[in-house]
Amino acid sequence: MKKEMIYEGKAKKVYATDDPEQLIVVYKDDATAFNGLKKGTIAGKGIINNRMSNALMQRLEKAGIPTHLIKELSERETLVKRVEIVPLEVIVRNRSAGSFAKRYGVEEGMVFDEPTVEFSYKNDALGDPLIVRSHVLALKLADQAELAQIESMALRINEVLRAFWASCGIILVDFKLEFGRLKDGSLVLADEISPDTSRLWDSVTHEKLDKDRFRRDLGGVEAAYAEVMRRMREQNEA
Ligand code: UDP
Repeated sequence: MKKEMIYEGKAKKVYATDDPEQLIVVYKDDATAFNGLKKGTIAGKGIINNRMSNALMQRLEKAGIPTHLIKELSERETLVKRVEIVPLEVIVRNRSAGSFAKRYGVEEGMVFDEPTVEFSYKNDALGDPLIVRSHVLALKLADQAELAQIESMALRINEVLRAFWASCGIILVDFKLEFGRLKDGSLVLADEISPDTSRLWDSVTHEKLDKDRFRRDLGGVEAAYAEVMRRMREQNEA
């Protein structure tokens, strides 16, 4: 079923299948940060991110959000719908952290009254620069209707994920989404949702349970990913 590798990214490989509209994603343990400047591995990460992303996407599907997910094939492999990725990183924030805190000179953890949505232009050579909506249109990265739909889907996804993570004793600080176009042009949630792409803090202690442990050399990276997985499992079984 798995045919030639058509793409290798930082954390995943993508393979063709017999069906031109379906691809297989294979999750690796490789981790990078700061636009590839920092490299490492997080043992078992691929398994956790595959399982977690699929469980979250199933939950989102139930809430009416279309996703690329077809079927989990193994601990690291998932069958997905082939999409044309919209070259935008869609970032939703509930609290200040990371580049937001740095850009505006505020502490991490400031609670927002309303979530924010921002876009970065997905372009490694340019370092994924922040992009305003009119420039998305000028560059024809997406049209007005798509932008509106992406934004409303991102906010709805935030509501679903925030409530779920809260039930696991976790604060969803911020996260990154990517969307893709199916053959008929309709938009679906693609890529992954995991501790690689989300900031997850323990609700009580505010301990970081995500990739910031790797980015900032905080130690306990594997343990943090495993803890998030454990809490998710416990909640899914409840
Ligand atoms: N993020 C991501 N990929 C990126 C950039 C950001 O998954 O290339 C996620 C990141 O893990 C965090 C959120 O998007 O959950 C917001 O990231 P931010 O803009 O604060 O950038 P960072 O501080 O990670 O550089």
